[in-house]
Amino acid sequence: MAEVLVYVDHVDGAVRKPTLELLTLARRIGEPVAVALGAGAAATAGALAEHGAVKVLTHEAAEYADYLVVPKVDALQAAYDAVSPAAVLVPSSAEGKEIAARLALRIGSGVITDAVDLEAGDEGPVATQSAFAASFTTKTRVAKGTPVITVKPNSAPVEAAPAAGSVEALDVTFSAQATGTKVTARTPRESTGRPELTEAAIVVSGGRGVNGSENFGLIESLADSLGAAVGASRAAVDAGWYPHTNQVGQTGKSVSPQLYIANGISGAIQHRAGMQTSKTIVAVNKDAEAPIFDLVDYGVVGDLFDVVPQLTEEINSR
Ligand code: FAD
Repeated sequence: MAEVLVYVDHVDGAVRKPTLELLTLARRIGEPVAVALGAGAAATAGALAEHGAVKVLTHEAAEYADYLVVPKVDALQAAYDAVSPAAVLVPSSAEGKEIAARLALRIGSGVITDAVDLEAGDEGPVATQSAFAASFTTKTRVAKGTPVITVKPNSAPVEAAPAAGSVEALDVTFSAQATGTKVTARTPRESTGRPELTEAAIVVSGGRGVNGSENFGLIESLADSLGAAVGASRAAVDAGWYPHTNQVGQTGKSVSPQLYIANGISGAIQHRAGMQTSKTIVAVNKDAEAPIFDLVDYGVVGDLFDVVPQLTEEINSR
């Protein structure tokens, strides 16, 4: 069976959920071989094996933390050369997309970004992408070389699939460009205790209808009752009510949770662009004609200041 390289996103050995989702998709098209880099790489092996990695290639070096993406591209290319895989899967983060693009250029392949599904095809893996506010899905195949595919978080279930997960050290020689751009400082954001927006299974968002930063507490309370991340429309961000890091949409983040709850958001195309692939969409809006209602699975026509506290109370009481 053909091997499929899976780039591992981890924090000090703790594998992040989007990588476990990639393993589910990789098993549909071949045998997953994981590539884990940097501090704690070897510690990822257990979790990766439990989710189907037949082999884990590891390389620990200070360069992965001290410099931008090129050392990671060098390592992924070394894994590619060693394995000759049928496909390379990378999580669809900003970094993941840069790594994928650089690797594809180096190996003369095509790249597909932001896939939301993946299946085996007669002529290679076929990716599903979502376009125009989910009005269309497209099926795409890389026509030249080994497909390099980035996959959006929450596109596949995490499945237990115990495999050998044998650990092998990867032989990596860094290129001259690897140390071209040095990271000079890292400032971790203050933790809110909520899940990361792009990885969260549930996102609760607020828009202009929230009408002030002081009212975002309502949105946060609903989010906390569901263990959700908080998102915001650009109108709310531009008004200074919520940080730009939480903006969902064309010029913000792209999310694909199991459940997206839009409160006081009209559903402009640029907002949809960032949340259209959510599995279930709920909107609370006092205007029955708001375009967001064209997109939703469940809609509540009502004032969010009435609806959201009741919803939070009901969920908390269960
Ligand atoms: P509005 O469109 O003003 O809608 C507010 C909604 O709240 C209305 O439907 C109203 O009925 C409802 N409402 C008001 N009060 C209540 C209440 N008490 N209870 C219930 N409902 C209530 N937008 C993004 O979100 N993300 C982006 O990344 C983004 N990028 C953009 C990029 C470009 C190049 C451009 C041109 C625009 C971009 N926009 C983006 C802006 C986008 O076009 C919209 O202006 C924006 O999404 C509107 O935000 P909103 O829905 O919160 O506000």
